[in-house]
Amino acid sequence: MEATEFSSKVVLITGAASGIGLAAAKRFTQAGAHVCMLDINEQRLKEAEKDLQSYGTEILPIACDISDNCDVQAAIEKATTLWDRLDIVFANAGIGGMMAPIEHMTVADWKKTIDVDLTGCFLTVKYAIPWMKNHGGSIIMTSSVSGNRVYSQPGFSSYSTAKAGQTAFMKMAALELGQFGIRVNAVCPGSVDTHITDHMRKHPEVDNISMQVAFPRGRQPLMQGSATPDQVVDAVEFLASAKSGHITGTELYIDGGESLLQG
Ligand code: NAD
Repeated sequence: MEATEFSSKVVLITGAASGIGLAAAKRFTQAGAHVCMLDINEQRLKEAEKDLQSYGTEILPIACDISDNCDVQAAIEKATTLWDRLDIVFANAGIGGMMAPIEHMTVADWKKTIDVDLTGCFLTVKYAIPWMKNHGGSIIMTSSVSGNRVYSQPGFSSYSTAKAGQTAFMKMAALELGQFGIRVNAVCPGSVDTHITDHMRKHPEVDNISMQVAFPRGRQPLMQGSATPDQVVDAVEFLASAKSGHITGTELYIDGGESLLQG
């Protein structure tokens, strides 16, 4: 394997068993990094591990609920005990959240989305900091256009609120951690073709009109305008690399220009 700037770096990825997280795990493994993969879905995590073993670097899959304080602390301890360092964190795990009008949203559904999409990101960063403080590194979060620019779909209040909070948290983390040489940024995808969007497509409350997205290149059904997970990972790789060495506290939109028309 050819040496890259990620060779022997330790990368922690949450939500690594499918979609964007799995594509990132493949990218960093192929580049020679040691990758710790956290996910709540044990079955998919096992399949992903098999898939990645052929690249010949060390992989550490850990079943973990990202919204559970003890789970996250224990998982990061396990990874850092093995490799004794942490260089790159991709806080990516998330759920689409229950789509329901505010009036009908249950408190449990509201809390679940905030716990996974926002608190999960906080816990990941919180327990990673002690392992990055001495040498610096890069933290990248997966936020969304939905939390920042695009509010076109009624029923998304819990998801949009969690992602908006994540962007604010990213900026505060960039501010606090800059002194340690830790950069913190977020990727904000529009629609990406993954399991999360399956769930949205199947939901009866989302009608055909709200699933139409306007792009500068013309109005298209949502899925035809989606990014691939790899297109998001291109941005993640850039934010993890030395090429983005002077970039911190930034949101990078990967949305085909969708938010120019809807924001
Ligand atoms: P995905 O469903 O394929 O992947 C999400 C992964 O997170 C899954 O493997 C799932 O098991 C894991 N996960 C869910 N809850 C968890 C928990 N409590 N603890 C640990 N792992 C958990 O979907 P994806 O699109 O790859 O999602 C990745 C991120 O991208 C999410 O944060 C999502 O909000 C964000 N995002 C997705 C889109 C899109 O259109 N797909 C758009 C914008 C942002």
